Amino acid sequence: MNIILLGAPGSGKGTLAKKITKDFGLVQISTGDLFRGEIAGGSELGLKLKSYMDKGQLVPDELTIKILSQRITKPDCKKGVIFDGFPRTVAQAEALKNIAKIDSAVLIDLPFEEIERRAVARRVCSKCGEIYSTLDYAGKNCAKCHGELFQRDDDKLETVRLRLEVYEKTTTPLIDFYSDRLFKVSSLGSPEDTYKPVKNFLLGLGGKK
Ligand SMILES: [Zn+2]
Repeated sequence: MNIILLGAPGSGKGTLAKKITKDFGLVQISTGDLFRGEIAGGSELGLKLKSYMDKGQLVPDELTIKILSQRITKPDCKKGVIFDGFPRTVAQAEALKNIAKIDSAVLIDLPFEEIERRAVARRVCSKCGEIYSTLDYAGKNCAKCHGELFQRDDDKLETVRLRLEVYEKTTTPLIDFYSDRLFKVSSLGSPEDTYKPVKNFLLGLGGKK
């Protein structure tokens, strides 16, 4: 079973992916991690990748597909994979068809105002990296190590809005592309509430626990 996770940054995609991989034995494949691993390993493809990335150029789809196709034939992917961060365009989605059957695209839906509200409330411990939210934590220091809490530039409203704009532009065509196998779930509730319908849906698809 291969699935694609679609959802805005800050919609709770990472948390959901973790639950799915744990319960269904799927492997989460992020192109970013994959590229870094390939480069660190010094393979021929890794060297090619590096030449594009060093010049600040986008990695061509053809090369990405080649690396992905190698990765998904490894034994740990026997039960299937969750594609994370790929495809980002319809052209990539078309190319992906040639190497993997996509059973479903799971779309995590959260109103942009809520994503913004959660993001601007986020605080990070400067010492241990623990994440807090001013929505449920009033302290100025970390409860674990007393480190000072701060707001990342990434979580400032303008930055969040910009990211959401980019997301909307790139993802809307993909939602259309996968409309015949789209499963939409709201992440307004708790992570557990979000996961429950997804889990039932995947069990229905034939995913084995
Ligand atoms: Zn801390």
